[in-house]
Amino acid sequence: MTRVFNFSAGPAALPESVLQTAAAEMLDWHGSGMSVMEMSHRGKEFISIADEAQALLRELLAVPANYKLLFMQGGALAENAIVPMNMLRGKTAADYIDTGEWSKKSIKEAQKYCTVNVAASAKAGGYTSIPPRAEWQLNPDAAYVHICSNETIGGVEYHFTPDVGSVPLVADMSSDILSRPIDVAKYGLIYGGAQKNIGPAGLTIVIVRDDLIGQALPATPSAFDYKTVADNDSMFNTPPTYAIYIAALVFKWIKDQGGLAAMATHNAAKAALLYDFLDTTTFYSCPVARDCRSLMNVPFRLKDEKLDEAFLKGAKERGMVQLKGHRSVGGMRASIYNAMPLEGVKTLVAFMKEFEAQHG
Ligand SMILES: *Cc1c(COP(=O)(O)O)cnc(C)c1O
Repeated sequence: MTRVFNFSAGPAALPESVLQTAAAEMLDWHGSGMSVMEMSHRGKEFISIADEAQALLRELLAVPANYKLLFMQGGALAENAIVPMNMLRGKTAADYIDTGEWSKKSIKEAQKYCTVNVAASAKAGGYTSIPPRAEWQLNPDAAYVHICSNETIGGVEYHFTPDVGSVPLVADMSSDILSRPIDVAKYGLIYGGAQKNIGPAGLTIVIVRDDLIGQALPATPSAFDYKTVADNDSMFNTPPTYAIYIAALVFKWIKDQGGLAAMATHNAAKAALLYDFLDTTTFYSCPVARDCRSLMNVPFRLKDEKLDEAFLKGAKERGMVQLKGHRSVGGMRASIYNAMPLEGVKTLVAFMKEFEAQHG
């Protein structure tokens, strides 16, 4: 068996020990004689798994008691609609900050439900920076302010939590949740798909302040009404049981590594290795402004894009896959989530130097 260094943006690499535990428990989970996939979601075995997943995630993120933690389905793109359906709360407008491909999708979807005020946009600069908070034109009557904390495609990440006063801050954290400690109390709602930094696709995490729920638009599907989901302990309908089980193993792995502070150190070290190298060469370039470079997704280009194919082929020969940039922007992208070991980034940088020496 050979495992590759998988730089996929998502679904992404998982910690090897988690996969090993899942393999060992595949046919018989803890003496139950069943795979987790075969369990009733209302049986005591699965309830214990779901409870542990909830408890570990609460502990890792230090989620305050007045926040609900919901396990949903539909991914972040479904949340783009579910958020306005639940969060307008009688208002008719919401503020959105436009920082790239994922923000644009959030804006477009929200426009079906409310008046969207794009309070700031990084479009003019080619989506390579975060508009400074001082320049945001916020609407005091907005139901919420929406940001994407890490633009997975553009590689642009907030390294601050914007203060938006008493209007709830809503964040799509799909690709940087659990990469570092955050202050949940500064947000009204946080959401994200699991397949970047948590576990398998199919599970969506929502963390929402409890006073904000219970006023969903009447046409909101029950399965997507945060109040209904919360009142039923995320089991209004069958939850993605296996994905929750794997997520619980990942949460345990993060805790065993030292929690989110340890993740932040590990992620900063990996990203520094790559960005520091990128800054020493003109053979490769990274378009993103230094103060908002993503620690999770590092986009870079080769000076001559005709070499892209040879680069990807050489990387693959050395056991590194999924380095091709998103089709909308081209170039390369190294996604280096929690589960990417330092060794993977070292191997990448060594190959980049070798490739430059050959072709530079
Ligand atoms: C991957 C991603 C999405 C899309 O998530 P789905 O689970 O495919 O709906 C949305 N936002 C961000 C920031 C992402 O990284």
